[in-house]
Amino acid sequence: MLSPDLSGKEFGRLTVIERAGSSKNGHALWFCWCKCGNASVVFASNLKRRHTQSCGCLNTEVITKHGLRLAPEYQSWKAMIQRCYNPKAAGYEYYGGRGIAVCESWRKSFEAFYTDMGQRSDASFSIDRIDNDGDYEKSNCRWADSETQQSNKRPKGTAFIN
Ligand SMILES: [Zn+2]
Repeated sequence: MLSPDLSGKEFGRLTVIERAGSSKNGHALWFCWCKCGNASVVFASNLKRRHTQSCGCLNTEVITKHGLRLAPEYQSWKAMIQRCYNPKAAGYEYYGGRGIAVCESWRKSFEAFYTDMGQRSDASFSIDRIDNDGDYEKSNCRWADSETQQSNKRPKGTAFIN
């Protein structure tokens, strides 16, 4: 199966230059230049799904450029990963422990999470999963205050600060 030619196309900050072969399991790789001057080799699938939009500089920059204003979203993202994947994290038993996962793009990139979720409109807001048994992914998450979250069928005594 021949994958489409992506050369010359732009994905965020990346401009695709040429095919860079395939990974061991046959996924197409492309050599890209980032606007910041770095080179990057990226999977075609990640470009097309817009999972990768820079060499990684955007990720760092989003955090540093917005400084403290962005810190809460970054903290929420980190805590979400911890709750789902670190058995030692507070509340893991109610998240990772019961099979709640973070979608692949969010798990790999704060940039992707921030692009989907945007800013918290208020400091008291945290990540709310609309379906309490569903995963952390764009279609199931919103920023909400604790009142909205509590009315959202979470079992008693399991309110965590996200
Ligand atoms: Zn870059």
